[in-house]
Amino acid sequence: MSAIPSGAAILSGGTILPGATIGVLGSGQLGRMFTIAARRMGYRVATLSPEQDTPTGQVADEEVVAAYDDLDAIRAFARRVQVLTFEFENVPSAATDAAAAFVPVRPAGNVLHVTQNRLREKTFLSGHGFPVTPFHPVNSRQELAAALQACGGRGILKTAGFGYDGKGQARIDSELQMDDIWPAYEGVPAVLEAFVPFERELSVVAARGLSGQVVTYGVVENRHRNHILDLTIAPASVPDAVAREAMRITEGILEALDVVGVLCVELFLQQDGTVLVNELAPRTHNSGHFTFDANITSQFEQQLRAVCGLPLGSTEQLRPAAMVNLLGDLWEHGEPHWQAAAHFPDVKIHLYGKSEPRVGRKMGHLTALAATPELAARRAWQAREALARK
Ligand code: AMP
Repeated sequence: MSAIPSGAAILSGGTILPGATIGVLGSGQLGRMFTIAARRMGYRVATLSPEQDTPTGQVADEEVVAAYDDLDAIRAFARRVQVLTFEFENVPSAATDAAAAFVPVRPAGNVLHVTQNRLREKTFLSGHGFPVTPFHPVNSRQELAAALQACGGRGILKTAGFGYDGKGQARIDSELQMDDIWPAYEGVPAVLEAFVPFERELSVVAARGLSGQVVTYGVVENRHRNHILDLTIAPASVPDAVAREAMRITEGILEALDVVGVLCVELFLQQDGTVLVNELAPRTHNSGHFTFDANITSQFEQQLRAVCGLPLGSTEQLRPAAMVNLLGDLWEHGEPHWQAAAHFPDVKIHLYGKSEPRVGRKMGHLTALAATPELAARRAWQAREALARK
């Protein structure tokens, strides 16, 4: 790694000013959009991950290639930056602990520790009085049978650690399926969640600054396809009482976890109008990508402001918006028809610089802005369809 000037100003209250270098653990699209926001404000960015020519590395000042458990590399990296954040939450806690000896890590390692394990996360949330999906730890076939019964015979079995986009999950509708499903979970700590016949899926992205100031981006609706986020509609069309409750829960979670940074709360809206927390992401989130184009301050700039100890920016949304993901599947018949999507003047095209379009891989997204959220969703869909047309 070549020299990064480290003389940038840090004020006595811990505020990190433009010119400073921000270290990012992880190198995907979240880091890429963070880096774009940070560089726009005159910060430098260094990224560390095990890969090369990454979405983040392509736009950062420095790309360091090292394993997350290479603690010497993590320490060397930490010494050269003024603050460390992450865009990938499954970094071993030994790495954040090692870095924290040299530089502030925001959000702190304890936030990662809680949120990178479903069981710890759900135990933390329910212990603090937040509403969560009924859950049972599962470490044996017997425990699974008992948990399934307690959940009324239907549930979703999830590995406790390292799951995302529905990976490590299996739906169980009857005891008869247990024999097929159990072998993959044998010896892996897991959680059985009651199946929630939700009306809709919602999320709230929020940020908390060094001073304890909390801001939220309001409630958005998320639709998934094959367990992967497909569409976000912002704002969600929900009664005010639901929106207020979702935001109250979100603000409470950021405070309870003492987050400095961005955190997203994924929620299920039930038929009776109550909400349950499904899961937390201690970072910017796919359901907040629309803020890059639609809000005064994007979730990425907000992460920067929070981790640098700056006052947070306005989260005001300037226009209704919708975001659709572009997965690798879209490349099945060759390069998508970019010119066709560019014909939509109200649609923004975001691509992450990934060279290998694998099925299910997030390659980019489209954000449409319109007079209403429904119209925005329609425009985003139309633009994506135009991309697929050959
Ligand atoms: P997760 O990785 O936990 O966010 O789960 C991925 C998706 O699976 C969610 O966005 C839901 O669509 C679905 N899902 C997860 N857990 C449940 C549940 N307990 N009941 C119903 N659907 C679920």
